[in-house]
Amino acid sequence: MRLAELNWPAAGTLSRHLPVVVPIAALEQHGGHLPLFTDSMLLAEVVRRAELELGDGVLWAPLFWLGNSHHHLDFTGTLSAAPRTYLDILGDLIDNLVKHGFRRIVLLNGHGGNITPARQAVFEARQRYREREGLLLIEATYWQLALGPRALPPEFTQIQMGHACEWETSMMMRIAPNLVGAIDSLEPVPLEAGFEPGTRGWLTQDRSATGHIGDPRSAAPAKGEWLFQVFTGDVVAYLERVISWDGRSRLG
Ligand SMILES: [Zn+2]
Repeated sequence: MRLAELNWPAAGTLSRHLPVVVPIAALEQHGGHLPLFTDSMLLAEVVRRAELELGDGVLWAPLFWLGNSHHHLDFTGTLSAAPRTYLDILGDLIDNLVKHGFRRIVLLNGHGGNITPARQAVFEARQRYREREGLLLIEATYWQLALGPRALPPEFTQIQMGHACEWETSMMMRIAPNLVGAIDSLEPVPLEAGFEPGTRGWLTQDRSATGHIGDPRSAAPAKGEWLFQVFTGDVVAYLERVISWDGRSRLG
């Protein structure tokens, strides 16, 4: 069920136990070979597939394409809300949904720069509504929802998500091959930001002159299809936990 397609009286009759999922993504540089809307297109495809499986089990808000991408702003075309602005916008969205009575709110994320503000947004909202019972506020990033180590087929080069990398390039090859540029001459870029296990503040150009992070040369459409199926399965399984939550238990 899609919030954007309901009229307000119909929205008013919905069960307030229905999970509301707000897909959040970005419009930012994705190297010299992928379009600026990559994160939004990939998350939209995961959502499209998950919606087919979940039916009316959740209420989907429209995908919110403006993300926190200030670290990519030196690359032309990137559009971004500053981190604090973005945190406030997510907080407002949560407040809107809570005002309407909804109790299960999931920020389903498809962009690395949104992870920290989205987690902070749900954390702060829980403090604002500390007297409420039966409130479930969640940040969930689609490529981080595996419950255990992921068994990747041997043809994969990367073992984790990068940026405009083998994984994202493969998925774009699967859904929009006409928008994928040449990859053969792209140099691999290390996935690590440096100074692990601490977290370094970084600009994209600290790590990559071209904008990609990872190894896009090994991308292939079949890998993209495999990733979409795995990520969709993870998202569906996760949202089913939210749907079946009893409204009280700590675990779900
Ligand atoms: Zn991306």
